[in-house]
Amino acid sequence: MVTEIGNLIGGKQVPSTSNRTGDVFNPATGEVIAKVALSSAPELAEAVENAKKAQPAWAATNPQKRARVIMKFVELLNRDMDKLAEALSREHGKTMPDAKGDVIRGLEVAEFCIGAPHLLKGEFTEGAGPNIDIYSMRQPLGVVAGITPFNFPAMIPMWKFCPAIAAGNAFILKPSERNPTVPIMLAELMLEAGLPEGILNVVNGDKEVVDALLDHQDVTAIGFVGSTPIAEYIYTRGCANGKRVQCFGSAKNHMIIMPDADLDQTADALIGAGYGAAGERCMAISVAVAVGEKTGDELIAKLKPRVEALKIAPYTDGDDADFGPLITKAARDRVLGLVNSGVEQGADLVVDGRDFSMQGYENGNFIGGCLFDNVTTDMDIYKEEIFGPVLNVMRADTYEDGIRLPMENEFGNGVSIYTRDGDTARDFASRINVGMVGVNVPIPVPLAYYTFGGWKKSGFGDLNQHGPDAFRFYTKTKTVTSRWPSGIKEGAEFVIPTMD
Ligand code: NAD
Repeated sequence: MVTEIGNLIGGKQVPSTSNRTGDVFNPATGEVIAKVALSSAPELAEAVENAKKAQPAWAATNPQKRARVIMKFVELLNRDMDKLAEALSREHGKTMPDAKGDVIRGLEVAEFCIGAPHLLKGEFTEGAGPNIDIYSMRQPLGVVAGITPFNFPAMIPMWKFCPAIAAGNAFILKPSERNPTVPIMLAELMLEAGLPEGILNVVNGDKEVVDALLDHQDVTAIGFVGSTPIAEYIYTRGCANGKRVQCFGSAKNHMIIMPDADLDQTADALIGAGYGAAGERCMAISVAVAVGEKTGDELIAKLKPRVEALKIAPYTDGDDADFGPLITKAARDRVLGLVNSGVEQGADLVVDGRDFSMQGYENGNFIGGCLFDNVTTDMDIYKEEIFGPVLNVMRADTYEDGIRLPMENEFGNGVSIYTRDGDTARDFASRINVGMVGVNVPIPVPLAYYTFGGWKKSGFGDLNQHGPDAFRFYTKTKTVTSRWPSGIKEGAEFVIPTMD
């Protein structure tokens, strides 16, 4: 049965009035399983109107009561974990254990947001001058928004709306049109947890509704996650319209493998980080840089059988698959095109997953794991984010040659080094121009109480996602200087006040 997915505005699910819909597929079967609303500007305006009406009372609700809603939400996420993971796998294609991880990584940020009363505390200086006290406070911005990608349909929406709402804002979520079911389920759970109507609205759609969001004068801040060209567009247009904007974009994450690394551990780490979720992760490792004369050959010898043994299956086949299909046919065609280009441009395709087909799922977007050796910086498979189950191995003579690759790459999301040498690891962590660094950790996604964000073309704006930065992004600081009549001297003061 093909379901219709509309919007959630003012606390209720409502059908769209736009007459435009997008197909939502089951990536494992290729079937259309839902039609999602591609909403119009007036529908967005209605959501903003609802949010604007509801926000002042929510901002006036004491922070502990707001935090209790998030606490209850966490409880409901745990209650509905299996349901959420199933819906997520069905539209995304990732395995159920990985889908649970998607929900849990969002839940952990919700848990962090239960501490909002502490995170929203201001500062106070008594006696900053004669009878003068100064204090600062954090206030919500009003109506704020999040635009999120397909690859983490639970985690990233929660990274956005939990801190924004805990801080007293009303929120408009524009999720990916590829997998809209889970974001609506999350919003329903927030309502069940006691969130007043209008504080969290979900408006589905594509560029049309995103543009309406970017141009709406009552939307004060936008957090975006997705590909770099769209991130740049949203950052530029949102800023030009006077909004606070943070955008997180694409990635090309390298792992430097030093000659002293334990190569079995390294190969296992590369398999999980390169092929998990079919490589559709912004923190996936897609480039392994083997340093030293023998490291590359030994690494390839360990990787090859592991890639050949990868288990690929639809989520319905049980929990022991390593990964499932890619999100769309177009995504699969693009990855296949890039693999073909790698072969044409002279890289060695050590494991070729291009012909992989799942019996019974011939219309699914499956592709087998691919492993390239002797990749060079001029090849398209190096220059582009592949976002598929493809790992590139490159060779470097020295540590300096090796780290030059991520240093000179246009992206700077994640990076990792495998070594036993503390000096090398310390030097690497200090010098590398990438936002998230792993030392013998392949996917260094920071936990909820640290912040998450890439450098260079992987991140636009000055604050990161989740952790304390999320509260800074979704609040404004106000500073009050106060003096009481007993401390006021007679007569007008014409000189700028100083502490002299
Ligand atoms: P995408 O850029 O295609 O879409 C992201 C969002 O932007 C969606 O909500 C989509 O509807 C909207 N959008 C798409 N085209 C648009 C347009 N022309 N105008 C306005 N809005 C538009 O990204 P995706 O394919 O959903 O996600 C994969 C990408 O996201 C990868 O590049 C991945 O690296 C990146 N990503 C980055 C992070 C991070 O934190 N840096 C995290 C997850 C994913």
